[in-house]
Amino acid sequence: MPKPGVAPTESTVTTACPLDCPDACTLNVTVRGGKVTKVDGSNDNHITQGYICAKVRRFPERVYGDDRLLYPAIRRGPKGSGQFKRVTWDDALDAIAEKFQSARNNGGAETILPLCYGGSNGFLTQDYADAILFRRFGTSRLLRTVCAAPTGAANLGLYGKMDSVSYEDYPDARMIIIWGVNPSVSGIHLMPYLKEARDKGAFVVVFDPRATPLARQADIHVAVRPGTDLPVALSIHRYLFEEGHASQAFLDQHTNGAAELREKARPWTFDKAAEVSGVDAALLRQVAERYAKTSPALVKCGWGLERNRNGGSAAAAVLALPAVAGKFGVRGGGYSMSNSAAWNVDRTWLTDAEPQTRAINMNKVGRILTEPEGAPINVVFVYNCNPVAILPDQQRVIRGLERENLFTVVFDQVLTDTAMYADVVLPATTFLEHYDFARGYGPITLQLGKPVIDSVGESRSNTDVFMDLARRLDLTIEGDPADDLEAMLTVLSKLPDPVGSDLRETWTARPPNGGRPVQFVDVFPKTADKKVDLFPKALDKQAPMGLYGYQVDPGTTEFPLALISPASERTISSTLGELSRPDVRLDLNPEDADARGIAEGDLVRVWNALGEMHIHARLTPLIKRGTVSMPKGVWRRNTANGYTSNALVPDTLTDLGGGACFNDARVEVARIK
Ligand code: SF4
Repeated sequence: MPKPGVAPTESTVTTACPLDCPDACTLNVTVRGGKVTKVDGSNDNHITQGYICAKVRRFPERVYGDDRLLYPAIRRGPKGSGQFKRVTWDDALDAIAEKFQSARNNGGAETILPLCYGGSNGFLTQDYADAILFRRFGTSRLLRTVCAAPTGAANLGLYGKMDSVSYEDYPDARMIIIWGVNPSVSGIHLMPYLKEARDKGAFVVVFDPRATPLARQADIHVAVRPGTDLPVALSIHRYLFEEGHASQAFLDQHTNGAAELREKARPWTFDKAAEVSGVDAALLRQVAERYAKTSPALVKCGWGLERNRNGGSAAAAVLALPAVAGKFGVRGGGYSMSNSAAWNVDRTWLTDAEPQTRAINMNKVGRILTEPEGAPINVVFVYNCNPVAILPDQQRVIRGLERENLFTVVFDQVLTDTAMYADVVLPATTFLEHYDFARGYGPITLQLGKPVIDSVGESRSNTDVFMDLARRLDLTIEGDPADDLEAMLTVLSKLPDPVGSDLRETWTARPPNGGRPVQFVDVFPKTADKKVDLFPKALDKQAPMGLYGYQVDPGTTEFPLALISPASERTISSTLGELSRPDVRLDLNPEDADARGIAEGDLVRVWNALGEMHIHARLTPLIKRGTVSMPKGVWRRNTANGYTSNALVPDTLTDLGGGACFNDARVEVARIK
């Protein structure tokens, strides 16, 4: 604490945001008297350009808020009661180590499940010390599929995850198709580039069930029913193939599988696609004609279109468009998706191979905990993740965590909805308190983040805690990082130059191809034969109806409304969900509301066979008829009965990648009288 009468010193420290967002902003953090007073953007980053999202601006409220975990604690009351007793780190870690040992002795190490996803995308906070511990102990493995698994499978299958068009090249496009993403709230630094493109005359098309801010500015907004992006994309392929607009030269030279794709697209006339997707057939033709004749033309494939039973095939069909139409080879042409693979960084610092232990799809965690097939899970170690808020079938997840014979550890920064069910709670540092590496997956950037303040309370970094546990379990070997600083230095020493040397000297690495690769000029598919595989056999085998096979809408007369839960301007998935927010509402089209006698602000029940949520209604024509929407990542405190949209989401899986089918929730809504 500063002495009375002495002005506390103020400084600005530059670091980087490693949260699960495409942009990886460079941050200027103001620190006064050892406390963070402001988080803002740094002008050092030409893409994130001195401004950041409103979410991370509020990050000091997380660091110092009432929900911050300050010391280890052990459960005192019933599970879910949130009653804990403070203990020392030694006591907490000894208790966990003992549970690990007894789990191994009674059923095997695979009865332990590490459970994490995306609370940080940094190299140090995920898949380093944690992987050392869990791999060496031989726990079950987690398939991290709750997001990006279907799109990832499609991108890998078709292009081997080729580097894609970066934000800086959008203004070169003459036509931009934004499919299933809302950059106004996630990846906000794309917006100025889109504006520049529009100012230069680019024709913009948005596919989204909601009239997002970008959709309202677009030349064409196609409001597809959730889950029908696949037939819509196939109808554009049909037009390209059948009406003479496919680029035969490109297909012959650079692709395999065009004939199979053409066959799959053949039944999908504009009329038929329009009928299932609830849009105007003439609008689809207009988009297809414009796309066929415009160059450079860019398709931005988001993550919204993957969150349903057809999500993998839909992403594959969208990603296939530039290959069929021959849109590659020019700046601003091609496709844009995750650039996470652009750095070609193999985690060489992690020397332990992944053991072939049981793999558990995280979208099935509720079911695995309540109705195990094979050996039950008896210990769950949750970190970088809030499963109660983010996983499908919320009630089943909660029932699983309530199991008296389940030992649950939650290692987090704040008391999450999941931490309420923990047997042991461990306080974690935030990215303002530890080192990490922030890799952008929109722009191609890689930066080193540094601690700007001391750890708050007794919080410790992931490296510290996982290595401490590894020591207690006698698992450490020479070369393991002793702490966070050593882990950071090890990673730096293992990164190939110039990436490693750049980071050592300037904290920022120069990207390959200047960060602006032109597809089929600077970069090519990373498939075995360097060609685009438009019909990967492995994907065709994986999909229940075959690749590009459409599975019909799961709606029924009892539950006709499609419930979606898109990203919002309040949280990064569920991160920061503990902060106060305006009333969370269910968005309904006024016609759907009228039909049910629902007025603005009414408390409504939203239900299906899985569960029920009570929430206030907001009537808006911005949501497509037949679709209702509430934000993703909402915490239980934000609804009237403590259940969120996830309570209505089935734990069925997408056609590819084992992803979550959030947008396959079909519900009914009624006013609570
Ligand atoms: S969440 Fe995204 S926009 Fe916000 S500060 Fe982090 S990288 Fe920037």
